[in-house]
Amino acid sequence: MSIADVIDRAKKEDRSVLTEIESKQILEEAGIPTTTARLARTAEDAAKAATEFGYPVVLKIVSPDVTHKSDIGGVRLGLDSPEAVAAAFQEITDAVKERQPDARIEGVAVQSMARPGIEVIIGMSKDPQFGPVLMFGLGGILVEVLKDVAFRIVPLEPRDARQMVREIKGFPVLEGFRGQEPADLEAIEKLLLKVSAFVEAHPEIEELDLNPVFAYSDGALAVDARIVVG
Ligand code: ADP
Ligand code: MG
Repeated sequence: MSIADVIDRAKKEDRSVLTEIESKQILEEAGIPTTTARLARTAEDAAKAATEFGYPVVLKIVSPDVTHKSDIGGVRLGLDSPEAVAAAFQEITDAVKERQPDARIEGVAVQSMARPGIEVIIGMSKDPQFGPVLMFGLGGILVEVLKDVAFRIVPLEPRDARQMVREIKGFPVLEGFRGQEPADLEAIEKLLLKVSAFVEAHPEIEELDLNPVFAYSDGALAVDARIVVG
């Protein structure tokens, strides 16, 4: 399905928030690397999809009503057999039913477990005055508590991407410390430029969150994605 098709379908169904599966579909089409996710409606479907992806896999709740999936037991990592996948399917749906009883559950998303990387986040929101603005930071506590982030107005120039990556206080983490491998800064900059071009080409996108992106010594990969359309 093309980007326009995914957005049209959401509009027809009166949804503004695209699922992780839909968000990743259209990001991939825009050349942004993600862990492709596939919808499974039953435990059996999930085990079958997992076997096709190859183990280990990750399962996540798919619901238009859930924003922070792991907060309510909606994410299970590192599942390494069909049995573990089938059990996790049940555990995830049970947990969400218990902790958010009004959430509509479409099923569970199955995707490959990505190798660990440095977690960074890339976001886009619209400023009433400046229009789309990109945000970059390190994932987890550094963003949430310390607000260690950099902003630039879309469209980004290569120089903007270079500066954003380097101006956060956490930059030394990306350069590698205590024997940790340095992140591929060029790949992160490229990703920022791709996201900028993508949101510029699709003004119907109101918000975008790649949280987290795993930054590697070779490349970068979005493992969670959320897009809101107007
Ligand atoms: P949430 O809705 O809670 O933000 P995420 O999809 O971001 O859910 O998953 C929570 C965490 O699980 C991520 O921050 C990341 O560390 C890890 N994670 C998610 N998907 C994958 C994946 N495909 N491979 C490896 N780790 C993952
Ligand atoms: Mg996330």
